[in-house]
Amino acid sequence: MLDPGLAAALLSPPGLGVLGLLVGSFLNVVVHRLPALMWRAWWQDSVEFQLADPLAWQPLFGQHKPPPPQLAAAAQAVAAELEKLPHEDLLRPGSRCPKCGHVLRWWENIPVLSWLALRGRCSACKTPIAWRYPAVELTTAGLFAAAALHFGPHPATLLWCAVLALLLTMALIDFDTTLLPDGLTLPLIGLGLGGALAGWTGVSPTAAAAGALAGYGSLWLVGFVWRLVRKVNAMAEGDMKMFAGIGALLGWQALPSALMLAAGVGAVVGIAMITGLGRDRSQPIPFGPYLALGGICSIFFGPAMQAIWFG
Ligand SMILES: [Zn+2]
Repeated sequence: MLDPGLAAALLSPPGLGVLGLLVGSFLNVVVHRLPALMWRAWWQDSVEFQLADPLAWQPLFGQHKPPPPQLAAAAQAVAAELEKLPHEDLLRPGSRCPKCGHVLRWWENIPVLSWLALRGRCSACKTPIAWRYPAVELTTAGLFAAAALHFGPHPATLLWCAVLALLLTMALIDFDTTLLPDGLTLPLIGLGLGGALAGWTGVSPTAAAAGALAGYGSLWLVGFVWRLVRKVNAMAEGDMKMFAGIGALLGWQALPSALMLAAGVGAVVGIAMITGLGRDRSQPIPFGPYLALGGICSIFFGPAMQAIWFG
């Protein structure tokens, strides 16, 4: 068991702030690599199962109609391209400059400080390094320290830190790619249901389960109505799973105020981007960043937000 003094120091605002810097540095890697790894896995699947495998063809098109030979040729071509890609996962290889391939030495990889010391440029080729990297590290540190202040020195605070890290990661990946990976949304639901069962979230298991269902169902309903009225898909399944996670964590009671905040801010930003920046109206606007905002605000200000909306 951890020494109580050490545990208290780790769970203090400065302790979790430092942990947040390190976690934020890893989140930058996840945001950068996870979408590419997903695309790679999808292509791998289509090569192994859809394109080249007659067993994938027969159930739909029938045995009497063999798969066209072009499919096997395409599968071979894609497999050859996949073979050429360098091996990559979330941990390996280490961080490198996307422009010149310079491998970062340990002192070039310290959260925030390295970016400042290098004046925001690669040490080898002087290409600017996006300010978003230190900003993500500082945001994660701020969120973790705020969780320490809000929830106190309790192991459950670590659960909330994991939740905040997941929400921030989803917001950034959805913003970049309009993808919300199952690998992030499903753990959020798991943390909500598990946390409720362990008594760590202050939500009863029934309210957590109802929150997961209501979170998924409410956005499904919004998407369904929108499809009837406007004939377009407004809501992706990733949004529904993400909101199910928020419902599981905070209970169904927190969902209306979280959704109103997300939709309100999303509408204001969306209208500003269409009128101010001339953004194409038909271009999809990712909803994940606004759901993350609604979720994070509900974690810290839930009762106050519900009081504003519902009196
Ligand atoms: Zn470089």
